[in-house]
Amino acid sequence: MKIISRVEELRALIHELKLQGKSVGLVPTMGYLHEGHLSLIREAKAQQDVVVASIFVNPLQFGANEDFAVYPRDLERDSQLAADAGLDIIFAPSVEEMYPQGFENMITFVDLIHITDKLCGAARPGHFRGVATVVTKLFNLVCPDAAYFGQKDAQQVIVIKRMVVDLNMNINIVTVPIVREADGLAMSSRNVYLSPEQRQAALVLNQSLRKAAALLDNGERDCTKLKQAIEQMIGAEPLADIEYIAICDTSTLENLAKIENKALIALAVKFGNTRLIDNIIWEG
Ligand code: AMP
Repeated sequence: MKIISRVEELRALIHELKLQGKSVGLVPTMGYLHEGHLSLIREAKAQQDVVVASIFVNPLQFGANEDFAVYPRDLERDSQLAADAGLDIIFAPSVEEMYPQGFENMITFVDLIHITDKLCGAARPGHFRGVATVVTKLFNLVCPDAAYFGQKDAQQVIVIKRMVVDLNMNINIVTVPIVREADGLAMSSRNVYLSPEQRQAALVLNQSLRKAAALLDNGERDCTKLKQAIEQMIGAEPLADIEYIAICDTSTLENLAKIENKALIALAVKFGNTRLIDNIIWEG
């Protein structure tokens, strides 16, 4: 496995691979890899000749009061895990390499409207602009045939899928299911921030989503009632502080009043300073 930190070196290697007729898959990450990331790498490896994973904590997608400075980073550990999963290339640039003019001086952005105002976008203004911009930069550098994203970040997948349609990017966007710990907690690099008590309390995310799915399976379709059930369950957990509970259309993210046959149920909940997200897509 190659580890590349320079844009020009990456471009030269991609050029070589393309000349050889190889298909290329891209897995964008912020590193501190866990099984969720590795499942994206494995899926990409199953479909493409060569797989590149980017490891880059992108300052452009963090708000001023967010955890950019303390976000966990460990390239050595990541390299070992990625190599074991069969990855071909890690692209791990510095902030200066990705933003040679300084990220604060960027004047060109990829900005989606409407769908980025809702859910996570409501509490994290500018977040999806940072995501869409860095993903576009990575697409331009890697020229992948396909890029792999986790359902864990449901809104991100919707944003990226819409971006490639609107901007005619010739890249297949593949969504990979959420990987969970044995007790149901969705894997996240941010789980390391949790105290043992918060880690235990955080199980309520998946539990409340499963409760909503069970109510749906039993015929409940009223989103106010479903939201109340989720709110009650999470509200009973003293360490949990709800940011949002959304029951919405799976492509527009518009809130639903009643579920016909499909819905995204998504949550963001804070435990101390740690913000966790989780979701399910329910289909009748
Ligand atoms: P991150 O490093 O958190 O930016 O995540 C990089 C990619 O891994 C994103 O496409 C995430 O949706 C995906 N991912 C993160 N956690 C999980 C998980 N538990 N299951 C599946 N995919 C995940």
